Amino acid sequence: MKLHRLLVLFFLSLGACGQPLGQVSNRQGLQNATPDTGVQSSDKNTEYFVRPHDCRAQIARAMCLVDTDQVALAKNELPDNSLPRVCLPGGAVYASAFEAVHDRLPAALQQMFCSIKKIYIEKDLYASAYAETDAALDSNLEMRSNGAYLGVRLAAMGDQLSYGEWATWKEQLSFGGSTLPGEPDATLPIVRSVSPAGVNDLLYAHIVHEFAHLLDTANHLNPYRDCSEELGGRLCTFQSEAWAQLSWANSRQPLAAFDFSGRERFCFYACEGSTLSNESLDAVYAELDQGNFINSYAATNFREDFASTFEIFMMIHYLGTRLELVTPSGKVYDLAAHLQSPQMSEKYQYIKRILASQHLDYP
Ligand SMILES: [Zn+2]
Repeated sequence: MKLHRLLVLFFLSLGACGQPLGQVSNRQGLQNATPDTGVQSSDKNTEYFVRPHDCRAQIARAMCLVDTDQVALAKNELPDNSLPRVCLPGGAVYASAFEAVHDRLPAALQQMFCSIKKIYIEKDLYASAYAETDAALDSNLEMRSNGAYLGVRLAAMGDQLSYGEWATWKEQLSFGGSTLPGEPDATLPIVRSVSPAGVNDLLYAHIVHEFAHLLDTANHLNPYRDCSEELGGRLCTFQSEAWAQLSWANSRQPLAAFDFSGRERFCFYACEGSTLSNESLDAVYAELDQGNFINSYAATNFREDFASTFEIFMMIHYLGTRLELVTPSGKVYDLAAHLQSPQMSEKYQYIKRILASQHLDYP
């Protein structure tokens, strides 16, 4: 979600019909990109998206089962949503699971469904889920968002995989665990989740995580102070009001107080054999618990820091999920206790302010 850094990448489109829209490309030149978010260029013929009034009703309208974008998948990229995709028969059945999530969200997040032009149920996907802001230039050459796309892997639908099973898989990746969810290794960390009946807690987690990325972009939660071109890419520092200021010295490095041994080796995509050792496991989770990252994924970069903290906050406080991480040595970390610890209090209050705000912007 790099809207403010995409200004140099836009180019004008001469739409054949409708209002001419500019385009924004997120496919190149991005630093600090995270694998499950993006800013998508508009289709040349796309008209401006008019947000509906009934956000719950928009869910059924937006639902779209799609075939895998094999080209993107082969390149470890998100699907190309710049052109319309064919909605296959059978997609409507998934709307009720999204509506059940909608009904357990605060008003500030229910509103987000009014910005979702399409909810793609992806048969296969590089990430577990993604959100993309569709950004475009208006006739005054001003950048504006033009709705958003939400994508969820088909495997998250139904009840085959709980949040705990999915989070265990994700947590174990950094230690060389199985690349397939549902095959936990007893010698690696386990995440246990207990959620209320009647809602798919994995889908809930994916939606609130991706909505957090959309809120980050739409509300400029991480404005830069200045940037420089460095070896290895662009390096930026943050303005004082940025979420990232709570943990990050710049767009790549955490503040020294919150960095720890092994953090840079957390790996969730394309680990290629470079994983943490089992021997380091207890020390890594003890350090995480002492610091102000909610989990290992949050410690990888400032955008996932916000989205992951928001995800856990929502699961604990709105869905009522109980979450624990258990190490093979038997140490149990209660995520609700960590979320409400003194070292997390600024982040906790930040998220409460976001949810209480009457002035949120949506894509
Ligand atoms: Zn994310």
